[in-house]
Amino acid sequence: MYYNEDTIIYFNGRFVKAAKANTDLYSQSLHYGYAVFEGIRSYPVNGETKIFKAEAHYDRLRHSAAVMKMPFHYTTAQLVKLSYEVLLRNDFKDAYLRPLVICSPNMGLSKGKESFLTIQAWEWTNGYLVNKMRLMTSTYQRPNAKAFHIDAKVSGHYVNSILACQEAKDNGFDEALLLDGNGFVAEGPGANVFYEKDGVLFTPAKGNILPGITRATIIEICNELNIPVEEKLFTVEEMKEADTAFYCGTAAEVVEIASLDDVTFRLNWENSLSALIQKAYKAKVLGTEFKQILQTA
Ligand code: PMP
Repeated sequence: MYYNEDTIIYFNGRFVKAAKANTDLYSQSLHYGYAVFEGIRSYPVNGETKIFKAEAHYDRLRHSAAVMKMPFHYTTAQLVKLSYEVLLRNDFKDAYLRPLVICSPNMGLSKGKESFLTIQAWEWTNGYLVNKMRLMTSTYQRPNAKAFHIDAKVSGHYVNSILACQEAKDNGFDEALLLDGNGFVAEGPGANVFYEKDGVLFTPAKGNILPGITRATIIEICNELNIPVEEKLFTVEEMKEADTAFYCGTAAEVVEIASLDDVTFRLNWENSLSALIQKAYKAKVLGTEFKQILQTA
């Protein structure tokens, strides 16, 4: 599904076939989840391939490696260049890029001595989330921000995401909504959350979330469209009173939340500001029509 005999990845200083690449079973990354990664999208834009917000993603990857004390010496510019090279070598346009930084063999708990970068990519078939999601409030909280660098994208954090996502699916829902340790809404297993109420957009304040690059883009879009947007802490009960709600993330883009714990949001999505923001996001990543959307708003 992710690669075939011909797929090329960047690994440890070289471009190699994905099918031939291998790694050490004594890696700290494999045993302890001590690895950092990114999820990035490329789009076909006017006949060319464009990576959306590549610099922001690679700045975050470097930040994640730094807070995890991993030796990692690539510059953002080098990382962006390598990513385009991976896309070119595979002839991918509409794709998902997955850079991952893993550490050298070490069964101890001290910081990594050496890191290895891999950049994998696969063609995008839009399979991350259904169009209209039924969410369940998870019994799992997001990791404690005093126990982890929650603003970093660290592999080990995603054990929490897997628990929450699977719990939701086992209960017949599409996806989970996780709270923070104080009982406020935090985020999804792999996406940030917004809700709309009386013409205003709300999203959880930073502190217990991964502050997404898509979340920042949505705030940008709201400012460009003159839609009031507020970052604040709120409860599930407040959110259930919303007109509409959506998840957003690099893979998810903007996806409607139809219901939360079987409480349906009251406003028809098509008539909402959220739907307008969804269109504006699509236009932004495809580098088209954004000005037109501004004019009709
Ligand atoms: N929260 C979590 C836990 C995520 O995994 C993601 C996806 N990276 C996001 C939020 C959204 O982040 P971004 O918009 O940068 O993809």
